[in-house]
Amino acid sequence: MRIEQDVKLDFKDVLIRPKRSTLASRQDVDIRREFKFKWSKNTFHGVPVVAANMDGVGTFEMARAFEENGQGLTVAIHKHYPPEEIIEFFSQEGANSVWYSLGVVERDVEKLESVMKGLKNKKGRTLDKLCIDVANGYSEPFAEFVAKIRDKYPDIVIMAGNVVTGEMTEQLLLNGADVVKVGIGPGSVCTTRKMTGVGYPQLSAIIECADSAHGLSGLVCADGGCTVPGDVAKAFGAGSDFVMLGGMLAGHAQSEADIVEESGDRYVSFYGMSSEDAMNKHAGGVASYRASEGKTVRIKFRGDVKDTLQDILGGLRSACTYVGAKTLKQLSKRTTFVRVTQQINNIFGSD
Ligand code: 5GP
Repeated sequence: MRIEQDVKLDFKDVLIRPKRSTLASRQDVDIRREFKFKWSKNTFHGVPVVAANMDGVGTFEMARAFEENGQGLTVAIHKHYPPEEIIEFFSQEGANSVWYSLGVVERDVEKLESVMKGLKNKKGRTLDKLCIDVANGYSEPFAEFVAKIRDKYPDIVIMAGNVVTGEMTEQLLLNGADVVKVGIGPGSVCTTRKMTGVGYPQLSAIIECADSAHGLSGLVCADGGCTVPGDVAKAFGAGSDFVMLGGMLAGHAQSEADIVEESGDRYVSFYGMSSEDAMNKHAGGVASYRASEGKTVRIKFRGDVKDTLQDILGGLRSACTYVGAKTLKQLSKRTTFVRVTQQINNIFGSD
């Protein structure tokens, strides 16, 4: 057994120090990024905020709203749409902004192949971004799976995760990922830290993984733990190239979720993708060898996502103005974090 004594930080442990700036207004800030990927020949140009591949967040309706927003935001659609619906969706507007999500079991590969085939037959738009996603990105078979998909689809952008340390970020990039997804345990409806004791404070995970990725011309996507627009700014300030959001985008008109009315207020239920609710809905219950690592929360219905997006992107632009970053790219170079806590006291989040 070993104990690492270095302090590791979460979003709540820091603030961004303001810096002298020549920027007069947040309107002068460009929060789009342009990326060339390590492996894929595709390029990305847009605001690098991604809706998480969760029920209630990574929906077709969300993708349509993001497309309407027009700033190049993207959505990782959840894994549970049937292939026919995905093929149909891809032949309509709104699909430019989509990451196709898959896990690593045989039926994920079969589904991907059938979607690819269906799209080819339609001779329309094809998939250009994949999000290969497992709770624990540390297993050898996962890294091998990423290599297999890279071999098969050399031109597609591959995001893969989740991990929280530099060495596994490097491994996934070397195996063919363009973007490594970072975060184990910080999610708003995640109970991994409680159930397993495993995790890593998210701000430090981003700093360490981004450093490793950028050394190999790879990118990272901070995934989980952002609860307010300032956390999104901190994630980019820490060096993340993309930021993925679940809870902050849940509970909207685009969630494709049932709205329940109670005492004049409207609510939507939001659950983790390995919660009991998700497993009951999609897998016919929790398998006997595993425990649920997600929970269900009830949140107030928040209306159209466009107002929330305006808050998030406005906050990000404002953060850039405070530190004199004319572009989002400059934000991490202009970021100095000030530590505001002495110790990590609530590692399990809000409850
Ligand atoms: P949030 O933005 O809500 O804090 O975090 C979103 C992320 O939480 C997702 O992108 C995903 O990585 C993670 N997540 C979603 N559902 C679950 C779950 O049931 N268990 C765990 N451990 N993580 C989850």
